[in-house]
Amino acid sequence: MNFQKIKNLDNQHHMSLYARKPVCFTHGERTKLYDTTGKEYTDFLSGIAVNCLGYNFPPLVSAITRQAKKLMHISNLFYSEPQAKLAKELVESTEFEKVAFCNSGAEANEMAIKLARKYFYDKNEKKHKIVCALDSFHGRTLATVTATGQDKYKKPFVPLPEGFLHVPYNDLGALKKLLAEDNEIAAVMLECIQGESGIKPATHEYLIGTYALCKQKGILMILDEVQTGMGRTSKMFAFEHYGISPDIITLAKGLGAGFPIGACLARAEVASTFSPGDHGTTFGGNPLACTAALVVLDELKNKGRMEKVERRGLYLGERLAKFKKYNFVKDIRGLGLLWAIELDEKLKNSEVAGKMMNDKGYIIGTAGNNTLRFAPPYRITKVEIDAMVKALEELFAETNL
Ligand code: PLP
Repeated sequence: MNFQKIKNLDNQHHMSLYARKPVCFTHGERTKLYDTTGKEYTDFLSGIAVNCLGYNFPPLVSAITRQAKKLMHISNLFYSEPQAKLAKELVESTEFEKVAFCNSGAEANEMAIKLARKYFYDKNEKKHKIVCALDSFHGRTLATVTATGQDKYKKPFVPLPEGFLHVPYNDLGALKKLLAEDNEIAAVMLECIQGESGIKPATHEYLIGTYALCKQKGILMILDEVQTGMGRTSKMFAFEHYGISPDIITLAKGLGAGFPIGACLARAEVASTFSPGDHGTTFGGNPLACTAALVVLDELKNKGRMEKVERRGLYLGERLAKFKKYNFVKDIRGLGLLWAIELDEKLKNSEVAGKMMNDKGYIIGTAGNNTLRFAPPYRITKVEIDAMVKALEELFAETNL
């Protein structure tokens, strides 16, 4: 089907939820994507930090093909070998003792919020509030959009669930004050790097200080690793850069390398609060999804992928640093293979990303605060990084500012 026909069908029948770019991809190979006209693009976005192993990755394709022939779905009322194996692999790669699966990042965060509330409910303690950061992003369900620290996502959806408070990110003093004033707080929920609002990392002082405060107050620390987990920042989870041990973490995006799956991991004492009937999902952690995630874990743990992310990430960061010379570039920041260039108001991020796609054949993302977001598949090469940087350099040089 040609592009125009697909576009018309979509515009006519799909709800208008996304500001879609004028392209439809038909297939991919390694780090390349191909559209309906056969045009090739190099991907520096990975379906927004999802397709960490790129496209048509043979071990992934053959594993899910094999599993699809055996069993794609079975109810969570029954045991499942891929799910049991994935639970073991995830738990053994972390300091958490238990995991439960779902289908997306928002669902993983919903589960974390319910787990934190149930933990204190079981203890008969009146603690139910969740403290989140301003500018955070935790998902689009009613609870997670309420947790999200950006009004633009929640305004039309009032009334919102109760019990969510917000403090400025990277402001330990503000968090300390709130925790001192309010005895009903169950958990603090944060991103180690705020992704959607522009790849903004937590300072060491802030995250380590938050961890210490949570311990001191006997409340839970939840880290949303939906975007930063599964090797994206060159460690399995971003919190490992800070040397802390949160009580609960949430995963999705890269966990299935393109197959939808989310997860919530917790320390044993916290996890044991859930018993049959407290939470559940029809599709979460089905055999196909768990088979995909097992391939991702194998690549990260046994095939040296994380070391490659570290090396390539350092290289990408070094190469992007050259753009500091432009007066419209406000900041360049990132970790592993998650980077941002923040632009000032003279140059719109969406215009740059649009030109990179249409004129140069590179898919790069945008995020809040007028940033360009780079989250390539882990199989990106130095040659591809050099070529993308050259294309962006040409585009910036043409910009008459
Ligand atoms: N949490 C973070 C940090 C995210 O970046 C996202 C998505 O961008 C979500 C949660 C929501 O994930 P999903 O879109 O899979 O529900």
